[in-house]
Amino acid sequence: MTFSIHGQAVARGIAIGRAVLVASSRVDVAHYFIKPEQVEAEIDRVRAGRNTVVDEIHRLQVSVSQMGPKEAPHELAALLDVHLMLLQDEELISGVKHWITDRLYNAEWAVTTQLEVIARQFDEMEDSYLRERKADLEQITEKVLRAMKGVASPMVPMATRASRTTQQDLLLDDTVDVPLILVAHDLSPADMLQFKQSVFAGFVTDVGGKTSHTAIVARSLDIPAVVGARSSSQLVRQDDWVIIDGDAGVIIADPSPIILAEYGFKQRQAELERGRLSRLRHTPAVTLDGQKVELLANIEMPDDAIGAVKAGAVGVGLFRSEFLFMGRQNDDLPDEEQQYDAYKRAIDGMQGMPVTIRTIDVGADKQLNESHRDEGHLNPALGLRAIRWSLADPAMFMTQLRAILRAAAHGRVNLLIPMLAHVSEIRQTLALLGQARAELDRRGDSYGPVQLGAMIEIPAAALTLKLFLKYFDFLSIGTNDLIQYTLAIDRDDESVAHLYDPLHPAVLRLVADTIAECQAQGKSVSVCGEMAGDVTLTRLLLGLGLRSFSMHPAQILAVKQEVLKANAGKLAPWAQEVLAAEDPAQLAHAPPAEPRLLRSDVGQWTDVSTS
Ligand code: PEP
Ligand code: MG
Repeated sequence: MTFSIHGQAVARGIAIGRAVLVASSRVDVAHYFIKPEQVEAEIDRVRAGRNTVVDEIHRLQVSVSQMGPKEAPHELAALLDVHLMLLQDEELISGVKHWITDRLYNAEWAVTTQLEVIARQFDEMEDSYLRERKADLEQITEKVLRAMKGVASPMVPMATRASRTTQQDLLLDDTVDVPLILVAHDLSPADMLQFKQSVFAGFVTDVGGKTSHTAIVARSLDIPAVVGARSSSQLVRQDDWVIIDGDAGVIIADPSPIILAEYGFKQRQAELERGRLSRLRHTPAVTLDGQKVELLANIEMPDDAIGAVKAGAVGVGLFRSEFLFMGRQNDDLPDEEQQYDAYKRAIDGMQGMPVTIRTIDVGADKQLNESHRDEGHLNPALGLRAIRWSLADPAMFMTQLRAILRAAAHGRVNLLIPMLAHVSEIRQTLALLGQARAELDRRGDSYGPVQLGAMIEIPAAALTLKLFLKYFDFLSIGTNDLIQYTLAIDRDDESVAHLYDPLHPAVLRLVADTIAECQAQGKSVSVCGEMAGDVTLTRLLLGLGLRSFSMHPAQILAVKQEVLKANAGKLAPWAQEVLAAEDPAQLAHAPPAEPRLLRSDVGQWTDVSTS
């Protein structure tokens, strides 16, 4: 039966494929595709795990039979019988074999998938006694999974966690040819990064907000995605056909043939539009009235620079360096040499164009790895995050600063500091930067000059711009956090996602004032939050005077098209009206009458209003 679930639109486009469900399990399990030649070994691992549990139960049965009724009530013996029976259940065994043999799931993934399939059947049973056997089934599969932990797979990836399903190793395997849609309760930003090597055509999660870091990474992958689609991981079944409408933020499960055909058509249209946009790659981003606009890329990993250049970016406006630190095993952080190599790779990849490296911004929804997960603090977004985290660990911070300074010898580098609010933080940062340079001098290592920038993402910073402009060469407005902290909306929480409003007058006021103050003082300013890549806001930001936008490479061409069609001079008075409005959203979506435009066959626009 066809049904749809609404969530938050994250990454545009339509994806159609079969659902791959990543069920939450109480035991840490890994998920990855195996090679066909590993099938037998994986089945053996499950068999070995199951035999261990069967032996354990047999031993227990013997000791129970030797106890008196007081120590071992007869229900215990009955329960052990049930467990043995479940372990020998044909549906469980054949199902697990099916996922391994036909789908090439690794053993643990196959076990949890089949558990999910059978658990749903239990849920639907009328008989409450039988319904309750689900708990027994969960218990014995948990035991099997634990037993299997001792029987290592040849390709054991990083562990995954129970309540938040991490997705570390869904690796590319060319034996899978039907498009696959990943459906999970939750995915961490580091897990999302693994998608860069994965087979998935789209993904859906139950939780998450539009500007959560998981969503941000998904957007950078440029595959259709919906987050905050509550209970989709409960309602969608393994292998269901699923459509993701990434523009509307809707998923449709088990679509009828008519719906499938309609979305197939939409998918082809979107591909054609993509093709049309690609012609703008080499077109300079200049408005109709001759204003040059800088379109920069946000990247997470050094190799993303290649995609940024391909998309026509004129530099990197935000390298989220924390992704180098995330998802690593054994708690080790990248050392100076590893970081230097990574930054240098990004700089080389940008072929002489500037690279803005933001110092580590972990905390809140970006945890280094599972062992660092912040479960203890109620409000991690207000806690030890970003520069606060760096200043709390000066040795780690200095290592990063030295690596960036050394990499700066190889190209144009801007150093960007996240989440500053206090003058004391600014002074400490500058002092540590000075110490990092002194250390490099002492070591005789060469390093390059950097432009120093601050992110404006806390209202306190936006309200004390003069202070920031005194110490920094440029500012970058992190609207994702600026909105979160101005409106007191957790950007991760889908239940308040409707209140997360880039067009709230207070947000617009802070953004407008930051742009205006930088202009007045001749300092450069960009927006690197998700607002910069939102085509519905391009004209407003141009009207407010913004000339530097940093976004995912996948968004650059669509924003460029908006820039090419805009007349910045005419947009300025309208932008001031939007700023003064009680409900800016009403006006913001009705910009002044468009000039009459003619598009050339290379995609450029000419104003023909007066001709
Ligand atoms: C922002 O807050 O807008 C920003 C760009 O930083 P991040 O999304 O990584 O917090
Ligand atoms: Mg931020």
